[in-house]
Amino acid sequence: MTAAADDAALARGARLFARPVAFVTGALSEETLPAGTLPEVAFAGRSNVGKSSLINALVGQRQLARVSNTPGRTQEINFFDLGGRLMLVDLPGYGFARAPKQKAELWSEFIRRYLKGRPALRRALVLIDSRHGLKPLDEDIMTLMDESAVNYQIVLTKADKITPAELARRRDETAAAAAAHTAAHPTVLSTSAVAATGLAELRAALSELARPE
Ligand code: GDP
Repeated sequence: MTAAADDAALARGARLFARPVAFVTGALSEETLPAGTLPEVAFAGRSNVGKSSLINALVGQRQLARVSNTPGRTQEINFFDLGGRLMLVDLPGYGFARAPKQKAELWSEFIRRYLKGRPALRRALVLIDSRHGLKPLDEDIMTLMDESAVNYQIVLTKADKITPAELARRRDETAAAAAAHTAAHPTVLSTSAVAATGLAELRAALSELARPE
């Protein structure tokens, strides 16, 4: 992006996220999904990746998405209406073994069907901890999205936990891995909910998907 385009996009992102946000519903089954009347962007990531913190930081509210809810406990999809222009969709964290003897879990059928059959879904964000990079389970989720024809973009989280040089390397390495996936966006974003970095860029990217002003 050129600097000028950047400024305009950042301003659009800031305007979108200055709008009020409201919890719509938590859906546990296909019957309880809200009507897909707004473009949707879904947040995905392994438990503890910093998903709730990122959603809260983006909208500037501390407690919108529940931080550190017992991972893997529910398979609920939470919907938040952002100013009547974009639906933020909080998917359950994956990768948590419910019982010690069970293997790591992916998602329930319900979540898979949501991803596959949701015309309103414009993009999924796959959140990856900057320190850890892509793990096999993340690759599985990306493959699932490739197969479901869900466009997705990787967003590194907790960028404050590593040095800028390490972060740059992680971005390059992650972008190279994403290039092998058909439905992955080529740009890898990086964010920190704690240091509030990368949020303006992510807001700008999401404003491109929202209902026009
Ligand atoms: P979730 O399970 O993916 O929703 O993750 P949470 O948002 O609950 O965060 C998991 C843990 O990581 C919490 O202890 C957060 O305080 C911490 N955390 C989340 N985002 C950041 C970040 O950007 N930087 C740092 N240093 N810690 C973070």
